[in-house]
Amino acid sequence: MLETAQTMIRRVGKKLGFDEEEINQLLKANAEHEFEIELSTGTKHKAYRVQHNNALGPYKGGVRFHPEVNLDEVRALATLMSLKTAAVGLPLGGGKGGVAVNPKELSKAELEELARKYSAYLSPHIGPDKDVPAPDVNTNATIIDWMVDEFEKVTGDTSHASFTGKSLGNGGSLGREAATGRGGVIALREVLKQLGKGSQAITVAVQGFGNVGSFFGTIAEDDHPQWQLVAATDSTGGPYKEAGLHATEVDTYKKNMGSLKDFAADGVRIITNDDLVGLEVDVLVLAALGDVVTESTMHSVKAKIILELANAPVNEQAYHYLTDQGVLVIPDVLANSGGVIVSYLEWVQNRTGEHWSEEKVNTELERYMVTAIKDAYQYAIKEEVSLKEAAFALALQRIRSEKRS
Ligand code: NAD
Repeated sequence: MLETAQTMIRRVGKKLGFDEEEINQLLKANAEHEFEIELSTGTKHKAYRVQHNNALGPYKGGVRFHPEVNLDEVRALATLMSLKTAAVGLPLGGGKGGVAVNPKELSKAELEELARKYSAYLSPHIGPDKDVPAPDVNTNATIIDWMVDEFEKVTGDTSHASFTGKSLGNGGSLGREAATGRGGVIALREVLKQLGKGSQAITVAVQGFGNVGSFFGTIAEDDHPQWQLVAATDSTGGPYKEAGLHATEVDTYKKNMGSLKDFAADGVRIITNDDLVGLEVDVLVLAALGDVVTESTMHSVKAKIILELANAPVNEQAYHYLTDQGVLVIPDVLANSGGVIVSYLEWVQNRTGEHWSEEKVNTELERYMVTAIKDAYQYAIKEEVSLKEAAFALALQRIRSEKRS
């Protein structure tokens, strides 16, 4: 993932006339915090916060708790965050954090101790004007609330603007939970409009019917009935129905049963995730993991559009192969930016002491997404480059111009 992001920065930076030193600066993080958290049970966990770039504003990015978290992954995700915030025009930089831990093996008290120690250790380096962390894989509003509380105890800051993704009663924003899925719907709608296919009927397959994928599916079902969901999978596979599935039904089933592998209905057959990648659909929505479409799966792709809702689900080689085949990849830095946009709106509300309605949050989300997609699309046409290259170019230009001003 790190290589994918860095190769793109190098290539696009060179095209834009950046010199070697400027490119190297963009590849390197401003600061890397690597430390160990020891719990009262005696277990020790590696912990990280990478602060990649803050030319446009405070570092912004999630904290994940996962056994496979490592410095390279955190670096890659921090780099992507700098590009994402810049590509969508937010006054924020990019960062990311993580702890190498399986949270399912911890008691609630241990999880709270881990969250508080993570926040306390980093408290000199984070804060509303420095670095504003958020939830990510296996972290949620409860964990963030513990981190905020600890940060406030250590620093005395009571703005609640030190973290986003808080619970609603603790300064969280309405609309945050659905934001990434909603943003994905807006991104796809805007690209289809640009292609002159705004009202056309299309078929869609969604890999990863979790938070992001299910909100994408259910919001699309309401807002765009002409988009037909034909397949939806989770880690166990899931239903395929040529005549179309109801996203709300699939969502309810997943929530009640925990997985989609036994979803049954007339005309439905259960498929694997590899089957889903190779389906004859117009749009493939990748909302599960990174590195899903690679050298080994790219030849099976038949969709003409891929919406990257996960981070880097299409790897570097697959991206070039598919782009050459005429497949349009709506890149992660645009497609899944709804989450960071609403995180930014939460931070704005905390700083101004306001509480916006969900309608106002969604209107602002819409405004940022529409502008970002239009800008990138027009740049792509003008410069005859892909949408991904256009988004990276706009992001790099914004970071450079802010650094120089
Ligand atoms: P989630 O855990 O709620 O959902 C992930 C889904 O993917 C689950 O349904 C899971 O069963 C499924 N899955 C796991 N392994 C799979 C596999 N091998 N094949 C198919 N499905 C698999 O997570 P989420 O919050 O929905 O995030 C999904 C992706 O989007 C992640 O990669 C995340 O980093 C990225 N992302 C999330 C946000 C956000 O706001 N939540 C923002 C930007 C990017």
